Amino acid sequence: MTSIEHNLQQVRERIAAAAKRCGRAPEEITLLAVSKTKPVSAIHEAVAAGQRAFGENYVQEGVEKVAALADYPALQWHFIGPLQSNKSRLVAEHFAWCHTVDRARIAQRLNDQRPADLAPLNVLIQVNISDENSKSGIMLEAIPPLAELIATLPRLRLRGLMAIPAPEQDYARQLAVCQRMADAFHALQQDYPDVDTLSLGMSDDMDAAIAAGSTMVRIGTAVFGARDYA
Ligand SMILES: *Cc1c(COP(=O)(O)O)cnc(C)c1O
Repeated sequence: MTSIEHNLQQVRERIAAAAKRCGRAPEEITLLAVSKTKPVSAIHEAVAAGQRAFGENYVQEGVEKVAALADYPALQWHFIGPLQSNKSRLVAEHFAWCHTVDRARIAQRLNDQRPADLAPLNVLIQVNISDENSKSGIMLEAIPPLAELIATLPRLRLRGLMAIPAPEQDYARQLAVCQRMADAFHALQQDYPDVDTLSLGMSDDMDAAIAAGSTMVRIGTAVFGARDYA
């Protein structure tokens, strides 16, 4: 077994165990394999091990990987990095999902730039739930007006919320932050019944995220190993 195949199996087992502990079905939680900085060969290994959903943070790198793996139409590509307006077209044209919609201008541009021959782009609103040092994501109070705008845009499909909580070692504190996100997610579902995705949980906080109700965990290191930014 390659190490990526082995890692994937372990992460799947960890998801299943976390789900069972809180009485959830493991199938409710999608594993998004975060392949940023990793070579196409690593993605090939993950595909061979049955992985289908991949997350990329950098537009240009992501677009190159989507092209390199175009022979696999079953793969689902998620853009999960900060998005500048001048890069929105590439995301609209090459990805199936964007997790980082945090302002009206980006939503409008993604809508206008989504090619007519593709299904509507699945979008998540990024919320800044706990990280005072991060400029990414909106405050909880700002969700309703942005959701209202997205719901009017025909080339976007509002699927839910995403957050990157500030790193926190203590499980109880991780859980408290994740529960605030879950509350916001359930409130959004009241207004938009199609909303079904809470993108929450990374390698270090996935257990708390799943306990709180995450439906999609974004796992990089635990699948592909440590990243080398050199
Ligand atoms: C890098 C990244 C991840 C994966 O983080 P790991 O700690 O390697 O699992 C998840 N979500 C986002 C938005 C990221 O940028």
